[in-house]
Amino acid sequence: MYIALILREMKVTDHIAQAKGTLVSFEVLPPLKGKTITSLYDHLDPLMEFNPAWINVTYHRIETMFKKKGDGTFEKIDVRKRPGTVGICAAIMNHYKVDAVPHLICGGFTRRETEDALIDLNFLGIDNVLVLRGDAARNETSFEPEPNGNRYAIDLLRQVANLNHGIYLDEDILNGSRTSFCMGVAGYPEKHFEAPNLEIDLKRMKEKVDAGGEYIMTQMFFDNQKFFDFVKSCRDMGITVPIIPGLKPLTTKKQLSVLPRIFHVDIPTELSNDVMKCKTDAEVETVGTQWLIHQCKELREFGVPVLHFYTSGKPKIIRNVVKAAL
Ligand SMILES: Cc1cc2nc3c(=O)[nH]c(=O)nc-3n(C[C@H](O)[C@H](O)[C@H](O)COP(=O)(O)OP(=O)(O)OC[C@H]3O[C@@H](n4cnc5c(N)ncnc54)[C@H](O)[C@@H]3O)c2cc1C
Repeated sequence: MYIALILREMKVTDHIAQAKGTLVSFEVLPPLKGKTITSLYDHLDPLMEFNPAWINVTYHRIETMFKKKGDGTFEKIDVRKRPGTVGICAAIMNHYKVDAVPHLICGGFTRRETEDALIDLNFLGIDNVLVLRGDAARNETSFEPEPNGNRYAIDLLRQVANLNHGIYLDEDILNGSRTSFCMGVAGYPEKHFEAPNLEIDLKRMKEKVDAGGEYIMTQMFFDNQKFFDFVKSCRDMGITVPIIPGLKPLTTKKQLSVLPRIFHVDIPTELSNDVMKCKTDAEVETVGTQWLIHQCKELREFGVPVLHFYTSGKPKIIRNVVKAAL
């Protein structure tokens, strides 16, 4: 396994360019409000022996909820259940001396608020962002940007690219300092659920790369062939940037229906058959772990630059997978 040089403030693309073998990276969620940063370190500690090249930190927009009051009526409240993405990135870089990649979303932000957030990241020495649209708010049927917010990931990419050229929203700022963000974008081997077909989705994907996306990080998938086909389609249409597979272990029977519903991904028949035969979730974990190890080995043979793991509460399983696969 390639041991990543533990240097701060390296761009994702530089990590990939300088790698001597397959890199590993992890995605974490900010702790639920009320928990400490220590809970995040407890989650990451078992994974640090693999010297991740970087750690992604997701962003969670405000959710509108209805809280029952004593008199039986409901009060509408706006809650951000997992705040702290920017602070967590700074904390990770400081605590582990590893690069952190905050996810940046369009939803819930005006373009001016986005600009200020980018300035915060720049001042903190964070030079990487994964640029996303974000999902619709829970109380909306389809994604709606804020008034004066970005609608698509490509609009947000263009805003970050502008800042990289010293172009701020305020036209009075002349010769503005240039940021230096390395921008990743999301890709969907099984198509984004809103796209009418894969061909149009890929065309949108190429537009994001042409607008400055320097690498593609994919949605999870359980069938490697879907990833291989996706990479081929991207290459055939002239997309040359690194494509990083996003990987997640299947650990409960419930996920057979939850993952397709939430993430719009298929579970291969062989995997679902094996999972359905399991009597306990411990057995499912074993099946899911073995499946992911096999996926990782095949992806390495295929030559992926990085294995990126969605760790979501399962650091021990990810640890077993990385140990066996690298
Ligand atoms: C690796 C990864 C990490 C993620 N992390 C987070 C996170 O931290 N927080 C979070 O809230 N969500 C996250 N998501 C979920 C993501 O925000 C959703 O999947 C969202 O629905 C789409 O985001 P996107 O950046 O792909 O959007 P876009 O690229 O904007 O695409 C959204 C849809 O619009 C279409 N489209 C794109 N451009 C245009 C255009 N110009 N005109 C018409 N249609 C267009 C696309 O085909 C697609 O169907 C993540 C997803 C991935 C794969």
